[in-house]
Amino acid sequence: MAGDEAFRREIREWLADNLTDEVRGAGGPGRENEAFPQRLAFARRLAAAGWTTLAWPVGHGGRGASLAQQVIFHEEYARSGAPSRVDHIGTTMVGPTLMELGSPEQQRRFLPALASVDELWCQGYSEPGAGSDLAGVTTRARLDGDAWVLTGQKVWTSLAHVADWCFVLARTSPPDEGGPRHRGLSYLLVPMRQPGVTVRPIRQLTGDSEFNEVFFDDARTSRDLVVGRPGEGWRVAMATLAYERGAATVGQQIGFQRDLDDLVALARGNGAAADPHLRSRLARASVDLTVLRSHTLRTLSLETPPQANPSVVKLLWTRWRQGLGELAMDVLACGAPAADTERWQRLFLFSRADTIYGGSNEIQRGIVAERVLGLPRGDRR
Ligand SMILES: Cc1cc2nc3c(=O)[nH]c(=O)nc-3n(C[C@H](O)[C@H](O)[C@H](O)COP(=O)(O)OP(=O)(O)OC[C@H]3O[C@@H](n4cnc5c(N)ncnc54)[C@H](O)[C@@H]3O)c2cc1C
Repeated sequence: MAGDEAFRREIREWLADNLTDEVRGAGGPGRENEAFPQRLAFARRLAAAGWTTLAWPVGHGGRGASLAQQVIFHEEYARSGAPSRVDHIGTTMVGPTLMELGSPEQQRRFLPALASVDELWCQGYSEPGAGSDLAGVTTRARLDGDAWVLTGQKVWTSLAHVADWCFVLARTSPPDEGGPRHRGLSYLLVPMRQPGVTVRPIRQLTGDSEFNEVFFDDARTSRDLVVGRPGEGWRVAMATLAYERGAATVGQQIGFQRDLDDLVALARGNGAAADPHLRSRLARASVDLTVLRSHTLRTLSLETPPQANPSVVKLLWTRWRQGLGELAMDVLACGAPAADTERWQRLFLFSRADTIYGGSNEIQRGIVAERVLGLPRGDRR
């Protein structure tokens, strides 16, 4: 549509005017700490120009952009080499959750600072004994006058070391006898900068520390900062997860294309492209990425995408990226030494995490087995 082309020009021009070398290409999976202050400043400029809340409704201070425009934005953003966003947990997960299920007071309190990227967020779901089995969280919160008081431990909390707030899934009452365990959980908004919260970085395979252990020792948050009704936080927690994926997937795939193009250039340059087996794998990666992108664009355009589609997409892209990491290691091994070996090693190492976070691939296959194939439900409550 003509309006969409004008929109594409608008974002292109903004990026051309605002993207600087200090943030170009910075950040991304396994590189979240890279140029962080500069990326934060860039995110705030992006926000001031109204791009961060493109998908938010106008009534909540967003631009109410169509899906086509959101796709265009993410395409152009990724193509320009703009940095990985530091605000994605807040703007794509917390903001939409509060718009759907938060109270008017919570919306007034949090949406403006989310939109301007003045406050950063982290996600406090996983615990040492509760990951895939999220209903098993044991962090507790009890009311003490006007405050919730939290005790317990979260783990793998991405970006907790820079976050101002955390949305925490905590047990506020025991489940009914014999009833589902997710009853009695609440979704609390907890300030991170307080004496009762300790953040301990976890060193990853890549050598960096992007996620953390978070300890709550009588940490406090205001009584009115529970989203939805106390004890009914499971629905809110699931709503947040549903917002995690969307039009941004398109930008992610443009990043994949860039990685593949760079790997092909590396294979040409270091002589590995002469190996028939590697040539065939590179061609295969290109075809698979085209299929992935076509599938994503097609399902984004459907009014009601198949229920298990997010699981299918997660399985496809994680397998693709792990395959690319393995291919990169073989391209490096089969040719002359390359200058950017570290970049490919990091991609290879970090891609091991792809099949774990955001719901592990075993869990996604379980969903496909049940919802697409109609197989009997697995053994869990
Ligand atoms: C890079 C990264 C960032 C993360 N960021 C966050 C964050 O910001 N906030 C947060 O709360 N969490 C975060 N996580 C945690 C992530 O959500 C969990 O790691 C994930 O849910 C898996 O839980 P777990 O690690 O406890 O593994 P477990 O659930 O213990 O699983 C162990 C293994 O058993 C398999 N398994 C478990 N249950 C089943 C089943 N029913 N059927 C078949 N197989 C099964 C799993 O697939 C896995 O292979 C992050 C993880 C990573 C790797």
